[in-house]
Amino acid sequence: MNMNHFTSETDLPFQAKLLSGCIYCSGTLPAKNHEHIFTSCWGGTHKTGQLICDTCNSAYSQIDNSFAPYTKYVMNAWQFKGQRHKEVPKIATETNYTIEKGAKPKRKSEVSFELQEDGGLRIRANVSSKSEARKLILNQKGLIEEKIGRKLTDDDVEKIHDHIRNSAFVEEAVGALDVEETLCIRDEYRSAAHTLIKCMALFDPQTASSELMSQVRDFARYDRGNWEYFALEASTVVSFVGQINSLEVKYNSAEIYYSRLLGKIIGVITILGRVKRWMVLSGTYSGPDQILFVFERINSGGRLESMRLSARSHLQPIPLIQTNFKHPTFEQFYLEISVLAQDSVAFDAPYADLISSADKLRKEFTVVDEDCLNEFTRIYLDYLKTLASTVDSKFYPQEMRRQIWELGFTELLTRFHNVSLNEPEIQEKLFYPFTTLMERVTKNAKKAE
Ligand SMILES: [Zn+2]
Repeated sequence: MNMNHFTSETDLPFQAKLLSGCIYCSGTLPAKNHEHIFTSCWGGTHKTGQLICDTCNSAYSQIDNSFAPYTKYVMNAWQFKGQRHKEVPKIATETNYTIEKGAKPKRKSEVSFELQEDGGLRIRANVSSKSEARKLILNQKGLIEEKIGRKLTDDDVEKIHDHIRNSAFVEEAVGALDVEETLCIRDEYRSAAHTLIKCMALFDPQTASSELMSQVRDFARYDRGNWEYFALEASTVVSFVGQINSLEVKYNSAEIYYSRLLGKIIGVITILGRVKRWMVLSGTYSGPDQILFVFERINSGGRLESMRLSARSHLQPIPLIQTNFKHPTFEQFYLEISVLAQDSVAFDAPYADLISSADKLRKEFTVVDEDCLNEFTRIYLDYLKTLASTVDSKFYPQEMRRQIWELGFTELLTRFHNVSLNEPEIQEKLFYPFTTLMERVTKNAKKAE
């Protein structure tokens, strides 16, 4: 597809006031409760009372959570939460660990007592430190006394202290993540449909409320029809989020393709930059080729970005997307979760750490100088070392350091000394050696395979 075939408009005006009533039931608007365009469960903040009545809105509170089995990994690794969540989601593993925010494994603390044949007491503690062991064990004084059938003497307590002091830690593997999840694919697609309908209704209320969309509206709102009918796998050659680093997760988006060639309207949502759901929104479409794009960065204070591409000519239909119209299988959904789980721990969490360290350095140094560049070199090397071990690639710190400077830090120091780190050009030059080396490390790993 050639972009020359399209005209584009950005920052489209909201058209929702053209709706005569609720998009689902024609009920009275504006609603008392404002509705999120991208649900707050995914970090969405933009709200409006112009699309959906209060009754219909309340029907979705359950469904909106249906992507939690996927999004919890992304949110855990990047350490953020949805507006309604109390804290960053934690993740269970199959062994005695939980994954705390930032993909940090934490052992579940546990202590057990077992009376031996010789009358001695065997104490086992699953803890992360000796002081924790001390606390846990001595908290159970009553239980210990019950087991040994007498009061603990000061001498006994002193012995326990001695044992803890001299005991050795046995390391155990964190173990596989527990990815057993109950998925409700049907609710996922209803939630996806609801989001796509809202996005369309904001900028193209005529189509969103028309007969063309009645089936998908009934599916989203009243649970009529099968998800298999609406769900499909597809891909597009247009990349709206191309300007965003592919590692970035902090956005939700909706793309709606009005395709003359396929005679259908097809939409896709992208949740937190990772989870995509494609679906047929209308099976009968004969209007001009068009693409509507709606995008929201999370925690952006509710700013929605939008873009519309319209075909210049009506003569030749343009292939906008590729699809075989097959819906994904259950195996694919489970595979998707296990890939998300692995990637979030292995790649996203260290990357999120790096981004937050880089933000700190920018605040601390404010301008380019040698100390600042040395600090950036250090955090880049830290990350690359983790990456290299994850992808099983060799890591040569000296060589990597040399390359970071060759790829731009030397130039930064000589030509941009004392220039503000907030200059876009400086930010780009600061980041370039990192992304280049990241690619090299990953590529080397592939070669080694
Ligand atoms: Zn309604």
